Amino acid sequence: MKFKTSAVHASHFEDLNAGSVVNPLYLSTTYERDKEGNLAPRGYVYSRLDNPNRSGLEVKLAVLEKGAEAMAFSSGMAAAMAICHTLLMPGAHVIISDDCYHGVGHLVKTMYTRWGITYSEVDMINSQNVEQAITANTKLIMVETPSNPLLKIIDIEAICGLVKNKNIAVACDNTWATPYIIQPLTLGADFVFHSSTKYFGGHSDVIGGCVIVKEKNDHSQKLREYQMIGGAVPSPFDCWLLDRSIATLPLRITAQTESAAVIAAYLNDHPKIDRVYYPGLTSHPNHKVAKRQMKEIYGGMLSVLVKGGKKEAMDFANHLSIFKHATSLGGVESLIEHRKSVEGDHPKSADNLLRLSVGIEHIDDLLNDIKKALE
Ligand SMILES: *Cc1c(COP(=O)(O)O)cnc(C)c1O
Repeated sequence: MKFKTSAVHASHFEDLNAGSVVNPLYLSTTYERDKEGNLAPRGYVYSRLDNPNRSGLEVKLAVLEKGAEAMAFSSGMAAAMAICHTLLMPGAHVIISDDCYHGVGHLVKTMYTRWGITYSEVDMINSQNVEQAITANTKLIMVETPSNPLLKIIDIEAICGLVKNKNIAVACDNTWATPYIIQPLTLGADFVFHSSTKYFGGHSDVIGGCVIVKEKNDHSQKLREYQMIGGAVPSPFDCWLLDRSIATLPLRITAQTESAAVIAAYLNDHPKIDRVYYPGLTSHPNHKVAKRQMKEIYGGMLSVLVKGGKKEAMDFANHLSIFKHATSLGGVESLIEHRKSVEGDHPKSADNLLRLSVGIEHIDDLLNDIKKALE
């Protein structure tokens, strides 16, 4: 089935009791056994281990990412941690991108170093940088594209090509692109993880995460064990909300991309804006890779450098009324966030970077909001 159809139907389980068209919500923490004490026919025991809403959501996630199996977690960070915890032993080396989500960077750079795990932080735009960072102990490469907040485009296929026949896993944080735009497992990645809080949730009302594996093997079993025993699991209601929201993911992201492209082009020509970071602009340094990898759907996220400094950037953000000044992304409502001390291809001291998450409001209203705020 096509993506849009699976996004609606892939999680459905038959409700023998009432014939409900929508998956019913199972809040029960425990499930009755048969007279001999064996598991109930569907295999549910206790809700941390599994429950109908979580398994329905996981089937949908696996189908959409073209993976063998999915595990839902209580947050994106719990999902990232599940991958690290099950793959890395003391002495292992991890390669992360120099522009990855700060929480993932913090996890690897601060928390895992306590356990004798080392890391390299590299600019992955050029896959040679990744190749040079590989050591005999490298076990994991974490890729995130478009990156946060500079929207760097990393060639997933090229990175996966580097580790063929080596015992190194590639995990892609696919939160920003979503499987509607990029399916990293089909490009050679071993794992995909998400903050489901963002585009999957889409309505800024649920925190969640997930890991999707390319194949079922010893490691996928370890991940499942980590999910059940580690206990960072989402509630049945959070799974139900995510399942419902993912049904409209293709529609939302299409609308968000359309508006983001218009806004990026407008800001790109605006005299008060120094630079726009959006992979759909032909001026984006890796536009060519983006065009191939993102199938010309460039997503609803962009960043801008406002001319001047922090004051000018904050003035712009604070004069918007439809765009709310808040963190997070991927929701139906437009958000803007000031990001400070960004490293990368512009000065570290730059305090004039704003990141925009474009929602599904009417483009005329969004453009007017921006026009007025810049005046
Ligand atoms: C938000 C985010 C995370 C962390 O997810 P939580 O759900 O907040 O734990 C990880 N990666 C990216 C790209 C994110 O945007």
